[in-house]
Amino acid sequence: MTKTYDAPTFGPSGHERSFSEEGYTATLQMPKWLKAKGLELFEYSFGKGVRIGEDMANAIGEEAEKCGVEMSVHAPYYINFASVEDVKAENSITYLTASLKALRHFRGNRCVFHTGAQGAQTREDAFARAKDKLSEALEVMEQEGLSDLIICPETMGKQPQIGTVDEVAELCLLGKNVYPCIDFGHLNCLLQGALKTEEDYIRHVVDKLFDRLGEEKTRNMHVHFSKIQYGLKGEIRHLTFEDDVYGPEFEPLARVIDRYKLTPHILCESAGTQARDAIAMQEIYRSVARHA
Ligand SMILES: [Zn+2]
Repeated sequence: MTKTYDAPTFGPSGHERSFSEEGYTATLQMPKWLKAKGLELFEYSFGKGVRIGEDMANAIGEEAEKCGVEMSVHAPYYINFASVEDVKAENSITYLTASLKALRHFRGNRCVFHTGAQGAQTREDAFARAKDKLSEALEVMEQEGLSDLIICPETMGKQPQIGTVDEVAELCLLGKNVYPCIDFGHLNCLLQGALKTEEDYIRHVVDKLFDRLGEEKTRNMHVHFSKIQYGLKGEIRHLTFEDDVYGPEFEPLARVIDRYKLTPHILCESAGTQARDAIAMQEIYRSVARHA
């Protein structure tokens, strides 16, 4: 069941470099490691496929629960609900439900996914196709007893990928368990560095979500945050908080979170320093928060 928080929560996506440098090897050891650092979330990526045994997923889920760390998962990157090849679109539903079954063992309740790519279709055709397939996926979730879990379409960093803020908001209207995953790094790439001030974050994201989705889904949106290098075609590569060229900066967003009393789940996707940078964001939030 959805756990509610009265402040944003923070954690890393994937294993930080220092985790293995300190001699750790297994995700099973991660919850305790995060708890010691005061972090509350961990996102497990099935980017290249859902490859985890039921027993291991259960063991990790139990350990996470014990440590007060909430697990989420990222569904495989090759999901494409917009594919013109029906087999690929159908398989995408299977990859999503497989991710959700693993998520259940993890005792988590949020699964992030990439909606798909436009390919040779017009944007309108691709988006309409993606919406149809996602509706079908929601029906399958219902049939398989998975619809208490939340799925989160993510905003993407390259134009051919489906996932502008408007598209993600529209997909979230398909079901009460579809929440937005706003990847601010991706969005900043797509907008060529436009996320700078509090007003930028409000105008490009928060206002739109409140307007289209209302309070619950906006306050409890899923967030990916990292600095990302971009070029004219969008996202190039994930950076760390050391970067001072590309951004975006977290502080203005922290102020917006405080101003609107948002309680997002914030996962850091920095390159190798995702736990350290998650802690940095937690500290920035605490330093600006009047409600914390
Ligand atoms: Zn993603």
